[in-house]
Amino acid sequence: MIRFEQVNKWYGSDHHVLKDINLEIKQGEVVVICGPSGSGKSTLIRCINRLEPIQQGKIIVDGMDLHNPRLDLTTLRAEIGFVFQQFNLYPHMTVLENITLAPTMVRNMPRAEADRLGMELLEKVNIPDKAGAFPSQLSGGQQQRVAIARGLAMKPKIMLFDEPTSALDPEMINEVLDVMKALAREGMTMACVTHEMGFAREVADRVIFMDDGLLVEENTPHEFFNNPQNDRSKEFLSKIL
Ligand code: ATP
Ligand code: MG
Repeated sequence: MIRFEQVNKWYGSDHHVLKDINLEIKQGEVVVICGPSGSGKSTLIRCINRLEPIQQGKIIVDGMDLHNPRLDLTTLRAEIGFVFQQFNLYPHMTVLENITLAPTMVRNMPRAEADRLGMELLEKVNIPDKAGAFPSQLSGGQQQRVAIARGLAMKPKIMLFDEPTSALDPEMINEVLDVMKALAREGMTMACVTHEMGFAREVADRVIFMDDGLLVEENTPHEFFNNPQNDRSKEFLSKIL
């Protein structure tokens, strides 16, 4: 579903931020990406929906070559839901309007059908009662669940998460992780940058550890936590576990 072949990326002329990355994420797989700050995790997942261009190598997403000049970015991005650390909801729109915006605008879905879909998604993230509320009236955990519902509204094949819980108060983290776990169990293809190691243990098929632009370890969660292969992974784990 997602394949990186010898990917290299620089910011400017001298900041080599992704170094010879090879990676494959198959349909239905859940991959957790972790590593120290500045190691290139956000850059890596932003490449998957071409928010970031690369200078060398190849990225294929659902059969689309991301650096083919004829690539249709709208088609690519309709297949990929992206949830960021900051929820980025539209403050002047209700929860339901936030969720139905893309399907009505991009897919020309009739309003009644979009509202029905929006309500289904709000049930899925456990806040159907918030449909008419504005983002400022919600807790951080609720806002992030709306952001996930919005990401799902285009019926994506892939969901990308970039530290979706790191801006949340501790008591709200689990309500967001529970929604992500349910998605993982339903078979969604997911790439998640997160340091929530409980999530990784429970639902990840693989954990990827990045350091200084390199993919230094790729392992099952069990092996990664119990028997990390790389000295830098060991050091990182000793700090966060
Ligand atoms: P964090 O855990 O802090 O989110 P990260 O692993 O996600 O870190 P990236 O955001 O991918 O790291 O950044 C990798 C490196 O590239 C950092 O040194 C960062 O300062 C730099 N960088 C990120 N975005 C840009 C940009 N748009 N222009 C120039 N440099 C950038
Ligand atoms: Mg980041």
